[in-house]
Amino acid sequence: ALIILLVIDTKELKSLSDSRGREPEGNNNAIKIGLSMGTLKEDRWLRDRDIFVARAKALGADVIVQNANNNDEDQAEQVRYLLSRGIDVLVIVPNNRVKSADAVEAAKKAGVKVIAYDRLVLKSNVDLYISFDSQEVGRLMAQALVDKVPYGNYLIINGGISDNNSSLIKKGYDGVLEPFVRAGKINIIAEEWAEDWMSEYAFNTTEKWLKKGTKIDAILAANDMLAAGAIRALSEYKLSGDVIVTGQDAEATACQRIVDGTQFMTVYKPVDRLAEAASDMAVKMAKGESISVPGTIYDGKYDVPCYMLKPIAVDIDNLDDTVIKDGFHNYDEIYGR
Ligand code: BGC
Repeated sequence: ALIILLVIDTKELKSLSDSRGREPEGNNNAIKIGLSMGTLKEDRWLRDRDIFVARAKALGADVIVQNANNNDEDQAEQVRYLLSRGIDVLVIVPNNRVKSADAVEAAKKAGVKVIAYDRLVLKSNVDLYISFDSQEVGRLMAQALVDKVPYGNYLIINGGISDNNSSLIKKGYDGVLEPFVRAGKINIIAEEWAEDWMSEYAFNTTEKWLKKGTKIDAILAANDMLAAGAIRALSEYKLSGDVIVTGQDAEATACQRIVDGTQFMTVYKPVDRLAEAASDMAVKMAKGESISVPGTIYDGKYDVPCYMLKPIAVDIDNLDDTVIKDGFHNYDEIYGR
């Protein structure tokens, strides 16, 4: 693509864009969207970013992307930078649900509308929250576990505590697990929080319990990276495949583990749909058009407009009909190893 750009005369490029009725790229008048990402650690975020940017481009908007690598101060700094670039809309995936409220406030002061993408910013009255239903993510994980092992010792490995989705996931699984715990069927060994969703943390905590000789029947791991860490520890004790493990994101490696029988399930979120919908709405907001969404969510202070997509539980029985059928991963990547 680079070579093509170099050989095309810029005048020709301009007339090409004009003839399609769009602003030429890089034009000062084009809509500018700032995409502030808290992390790109998990594969899904690369997909979110790429699809968001491609869709916005197709709609004639420019996107400036920043990645904070799980650092709150860097994210604050990057949002200031985006505002200084004159963005029309800020789309933020907050690394910290509390601290990022300052960034939202700064944007609002500058007259810039804010979309919280995938993760909510608390007490900040964002203009829109668009996400998969994380409470449903937690419910799906717990339901899959109790259907398979409605008894025994459960280890829970939550994501980062500063990510609002972690609390929503907890709300979802608590609702399912509580009656089993109350009836004395399920014993929760521990409920841990993995800072920044670090896989290493899941490895360490799982290993800690195994070292003590604790029998583990099921591990509720809040995403596939945490599942990977837990399964790595299990395999050191020759227990992978014997302990039922959940996950989230339908990462390629997690789907492979489902095929291998070391991970029981994952929660698939077709992020393409999320990224496209968010891009469409960001462009509309930038044009001053109103958007209507079906619901609201309470951010601790305000009810904010909220658009939620449905996550899908995936195990070996429906892997082909979901992840593969959608082209989220191709067949050979998952089976042909
Ligand atoms: C997202 C998950 C992701 C996790 C770690 C959560 O907020 O919803 O899809 O795995 O963050 O980045």
